Amino acid sequence: MEIKSQLHSLSAESLHQITACPDCDLLVRKQPLKVGGKAKCPRCGCVLYTNKPNSVDRSLAFSISGLILFVPANVYPLLSLDFSGRVQHGTVMSGIIEMYQAGISGVATLVLFCAVIIPLVKLVVITFILGCVRLSVKLKSLILLFRFYRAISVWGMLEIFLLAILLSCLKLIDDADVIFRGGFFAFSGLMACAVMISATLDEGYIWRHLDRSFYD
Ligand SMILES: [Zn+2]
Repeated sequence: MEIKSQLHSLSAESLHQITACPDCDLLVRKQPLKVGGKAKCPRCGCVLYTNKPNSVDRSLAFSISGLILFVPANVYPLLSLDFSGRVQHGTVMSGIIEMYQAGISGVATLVLFCAVIIPLVKLVVITFILGCVRLSVKLKSLILLFRFYRAISVWGMLEIFLLAILLSCLKLIDDADVIFRGGFFAFSGLMACAVMISATLDEGYIWRHLDRSFYD
C-alpha cells in the first residue's frame, strides 16, 4: 500500500529513475554513483544499488572459468584414500552413486542437485545472460531467464559440499592416507568462481540493460 501511494504522488516522474527499498518500501530517486560506490536507503540503510567496476566483463570471465573447471571437477577424482595399500578413488558422481546404493537416496538426490545440477545450470544461464549483455544482444526472454537465475541461486551449495569432503577427510585421516587429486583443486576453483560471480555481478546494471531490451 505504501509503495502504491508513493507511486501515485510520483506519477509524473519517470519510473526508471525510481527504485524501491527492498526492506522498508521507501521509493528513492536514483543518483549516479562513482565507481565502487553504494547507494543506501536514507530511512533504513539497506543497500539499494551499487556501481561495480567492469562488472559484466569480470563476472563473464569467472562464469566461463567456472564452466571450464566444472568438467575436471566432476570427471576427475577428488581424492584417493590409501587403506594400507588398498587405494580407492572418489569422484563427485561415485560418491552420489554410493549414497544411492547405501539407501540414503534423499541425501544423494540433494547432493546431486545442489553440488552438480544447479551449479551447472546457474553457470550456463549466467554465462548466456552476461554474453548477451556484453554483445548487446536484446532478447525479451532474458528477463525471465535472469529471474530464474536469481530464484535458483540459493540452491547452489558448492561450499557446503566442499566442507563436507574436508570434514570426512579429517575423520578418515587416522585410518587412511588421504591424497587430494586434481578434481579437488578443480572443484575448489569452481567454488571460488561461483563466489566471485556473486561478488562481481552488478544486478542493477543487468536489470537496466534488460529493461532497455524490453522497452526498445
Ligand atoms: Zn529502506
